Amino acid sequence: MSVTAEAGSATFQSLNPATGEVVAEHPVHDEKAVAETVARAREAALWWGGLSWKERKLAILNIKGALTRNLDRMAEVIHQETGKPVQDAQLETVMAITHLDWAARNAQKVLGPHRVFPGMMAINLQAVLEYQPLGVVGVIGPWNYPIFTPMGSIAYALAAGNAVVFKPSEYTPGVGTLLEELVREVIPDHPVFQVVTGLGPTGGALAASPDVDKIAFTGSTRTAKKVMAACAQNLTPMVAECGGKDALIVDSDADLDAAANAAIWGAMSNAGQTCIGVERIYVVDSAYDAFLGKLTGKAKDLKPGFEANSTYGPITMPGQLEIIERHIKDALERGGQAVVGGADSVKGPYVEPVVLTDVPDDSSAVCEETFGPTITVHKVRDMEEALQKANKTAYGLAGTIFSGSKTRAMDAARRLRSGMTSINTFAGFVTVGALPFGGVGDSGFGRIHGADGLREFARPKAIARQRFAPPLDLLTFDRTEQTMQRVLGLVKFLHGRKY
Ligand code: NDP
Repeated sequence: MSVTAEAGSATFQSLNPATGEVVAEHPVHDEKAVAETVARAREAALWWGGLSWKERKLAILNIKGALTRNLDRMAEVIHQETGKPVQDAQLETVMAITHLDWAARNAQKVLGPHRVFPGMMAINLQAVLEYQPLGVVGVIGPWNYPIFTPMGSIAYALAAGNAVVFKPSEYTPGVGTLLEELVREVIPDHPVFQVVTGLGPTGGALAASPDVDKIAFTGSTRTAKKVMAACAQNLTPMVAECGGKDALIVDSDADLDAAANAAIWGAMSNAGQTCIGVERIYVVDSAYDAFLGKLTGKAKDLKPGFEANSTYGPITMPGQLEIIERHIKDALERGGQAVVGGADSVKGPYVEPVVLTDVPDDSSAVCEETFGPTITVHKVRDMEEALQKANKTAYGLAGTIFSGSKTRAMDAARRLRSGMTSINTFAGFVTVGALPFGGVGDSGFGRIHGADGLREFARPKAIARQRFAPPLDLLTFDRTEQTMQRVLGLVKFLHGRKY
């Protein structure tokens, strides 16, 4: 889609990036509108945070039910706004549903009150740890997976007892407003989930709002820095899910058919517009030729378009076409070979598959996020060299290892500098509700999904209740020398030994 109105005007249009047709018109919410929305969210948060765990769980499961019953409607909006195939839109909606389910069912277990052992020195206390809601969480989302990605924050923030104000990307506002409609069907009287639409400044107003307790941002590293600066004004904490330059490593004994299959899907699905997409492949020498043959064979079969049988859709953001073309040209000018496609594969709004080999490690196609259906394939001596090259990036989001050896694969997975690694499949972690999602370095910080994702939207509350007077009371001016000596003796006995 592209935007037809300037920031500050009353409305903007979302466009289908494949056809250029207007999908819908949405309001541009200004600073005042954002502040009013946040104020309503504050009220709703009091009510929502005051419900029991069971009441919130049921409400979120009902939101899940509403989304599931409207899955095809949601997928159609995603299809229209991003141009991606309907099946891909359905798939990401299914993944969003999985996370609503996990967050609803696990919030009490992870965040609810539980006793912790107080230790021998404080045996007279009952120690209780619980996680309380923050209040209002602002979620700023991207366009590439417009329901799945923000749901990683929305579901977990709601399940933790917060109200949410969601600013969808200007390219996918309809996904946000449909979700808001579905939540309102389930919870009509309290605006626990609201959407503000608009361009960058609308998100900026949300991030700078003094009444937002946390910002969950997903988008580019460049914008994350701006959002962080806005958050800094009020010391608002944030979680930043940013881009990546993920690698897939193929070991000498890997299943090459499975590896090529995963690599082509990981690199080209959604036209390569995937934060955890495969952008670089490192193949151990002895497997290189066979793997490359399989990969290129599969790449040639792909057909971008908006028709029902297209394998992937257009480049959603028109400005990205220039970046993709620049990366391909830079790779070719510096000695790289295009074994599938080339610079003329960029035929806006579509980009045909491009497979590049012999690309220097310091070219933009290897160092910068391309976010297109292009891939660089590199021959390496062994897994050590593969890891060393894969880790040579400022990003660190995810990665994939294909190996016939469980030991080598696990070792490589641990040493890959990233938040998530998938072995012998692409992105296995995304649908596992219990696994946290997030990056290191330029890929951001903080986690969504899983228990860590729930805790991201809650504050720990520690309560220590005295059950009986301590045998040795130290916290008093009446403390005696004898008491102190006994305590010191106990401490030396408990902690003084060598291990
Ligand atoms: P952007 O960084 O351009 O935008 C992300 C969101 O921030 C949009 O809603 C955007 O609104 C908003 N925004 C823009 N400017 C500001 C501002 N000054 N203050 C507050 N909000 C602002 O990213 P894209 O939408 O282009 O998404 C693609 C990027 O997202 C890629 O780099 C990709 O790797 C990353 N990504 C990361 C994921 C992860 O989980 N780690 C998942 C998916 C994508 P608007 O669109 O209206 O300008």
